[in-house]
Amino acid sequence: MSSAPTPTDPATPAEDEAAAFADLGLRTELLNALAVLGYEEPTPIQREAIPPLLAGRDLLGQAATGTGKTAAFALPLLQRMPDDRPGGDPVSLVLVPTRELAVQVSEAFHRYGKDLGARVLPIYGGQPIGRQLRALDAGVDVVVATPGRALDHIARGTLRLGALATVVLDEADEMLDMGFAEDIEAILEHAPAGRQTVLFSATLPTRIDGLARKHLTDPVRIRIEREQPVAGAAPRVRQSAYIVARGHKPAALGRVLDVESPTAAIVFCRSREEVDRLTETMNGRGYRAEALHGGMSQEQRDRVMGRLRSGTADLLVATDVAARGLDVEQLTHVVNYDVPSAPESYVHRIGRVGRAGREGVAITLAEPREHRMLKTIERVTGQRIAVDKIPTVADLRTRRLELTQAALRESLLEDDLEPFRAIVESLTDEFDLVEVALAAVRLAHEATLPGTADEEEEIPQVAVRAPRETRPGYEGRDRRGGARPRAGGTTQVFIGLGRRAGVRPQDLVGAITGETGVSGRDIGSIEIADRFSLVEVPYGVADEVIQGLRGSTIKGRKATVRRDRDRDSDGGDHRERRERR
Ligand code: AMP
Repeated sequence: MSSAPTPTDPATPAEDEAAAFADLGLRTELLNALAVLGYEEPTPIQREAIPPLLAGRDLLGQAATGTGKTAAFALPLLQRMPDDRPGGDPVSLVLVPTRELAVQVSEAFHRYGKDLGARVLPIYGGQPIGRQLRALDAGVDVVVATPGRALDHIARGTLRLGALATVVLDEADEMLDMGFAEDIEAILEHAPAGRQTVLFSATLPTRIDGLARKHLTDPVRIRIEREQPVAGAAPRVRQSAYIVARGHKPAALGRVLDVESPTAAIVFCRSREEVDRLTETMNGRGYRAEALHGGMSQEQRDRVMGRLRSGTADLLVATDVAARGLDVEQLTHVVNYDVPSAPESYVHRIGRVGRAGREGVAITLAEPREHRMLKTIERVTGQRIAVDKIPTVADLRTRRLELTQAALRESLLEDDLEPFRAIVESLTDEFDLVEVALAAVRLAHEATLPGTADEEEEIPQVAVRAPRETRPGYEGRDRRGGARPRAGGTTQVFIGLGRRAGVRPQDLVGAITGETGVSGRDIGSIEIADRFSLVEVPYGVADEVIQGLRGSTIKGRKATVRRDRDRDSDGGDHRERRERR
């Protein structure tokens, strides 16, 4: 892989990284999976949670999405799975609030557990139960389920919990907010008494504490966000963030770079794989990008740094590990392609710019679900991260014209233009002087345009308002019961546009989070039929969602929006919690 270590470089990053995960006690099959995924080092929560979980301890973890918490519990669970698994009943059960999370978490288990032959099944409402029955019948090791559907299967006798070694409650606060408390209690009653129980929650309201006290035995407690500001976290850096759907990230990065026109920028990615993919994409879009990651030899790294310093490259795409200790004077911009997994890492990254009195710029591309992590970073650093709108095509054009104008001004003030006088004079015999100038400006302008960037593409805005906790007049989610009375549980909102109108889940989430104060985390299952869509939201915010959507457009169209009628007659089994109010 990489060359022998040099005396000044006692261990190559690749060796460091293997050691970092191996030090946590993970077995070879899992280390291999992580190497393939290009994870270079454990995130803070992984470092703290993996060893006690491997030892079989119960755990209470306070951590939000984006901290790497899924791997923090998935890796030890997979390792604790016995090699010899004759029966077909699951050894691990993970309960999650939404269908999306069920799919996401089970995909993570699948990726990490491939070499161990782990059989993972997501089960959630909205999916035909027949498929789940067949899969359960064939035997599974890990079930990732929403509580309502899990309970359905337990009642039918199709999900048997007798062999469970571990139960994980993921995003427990969300599950309670969605009215799943009783279901969780009922499920835990069916689980063996001696099992390991793991609870992750972004917040720890009293109800979560109660749940933990009742079901966890002498748990290890881990808290990933810190109250204290990180020392030295005050660089002169303009900080902003853009909320953007995953699929639009490369285009958004290009757009932001075009508008910012950095002298040199470093783009941080979470994994080596992402570094390679993004470098290729950005090169394809006409940028001069170089990859830097832990899989490269010292010599390769030196070459890359040389190209950045000499200006042959203007974009460095790197992982944290590879960029450690890096000091490039030319750097003006730091871009977080993902929200970093810990505030400390954010502070560390943006410390690369804003040195020696120069102003630096830090830009973060956050997916809607990572919005909360941004808030955590703001709280820890005590600095504001402005959430900006992604520049539109029109913004970009205006900005480019400004740059051309500035370049012409500079040339008029500084350059020796005499050699060109003859051209202008001969053209003015035939054309008006202003027309000659216009043509010259046009040529100068076009020369600055990147060759292949798809600059005409409009990037959808995903607006996210400030979370309720920070908005005036709102008393906070822990006390939500007092602040806004609600019936608990969820309801479905009917939207009269579906697949035929090109509606995708992200359009609905974008419209809801953009038009209301509801966060993406509050949105439950989303079903998109040909002509309509159904979105599951907490009862308490349904009216807000309906009003918000009525006042806006989805995919450029106005839609009928109302509470879903009683749809039992159509036989659709999207109604996971039919019985519950
Ligand atoms: P989570 O907080 O579990 O939703 O994870 C957030 C993202 O970080 C996911 O896309 C993971 O694939 C990624 N991730 C988790 N752990 C690591 C790691 N140690 N290195 C790089 N990426 C990671």
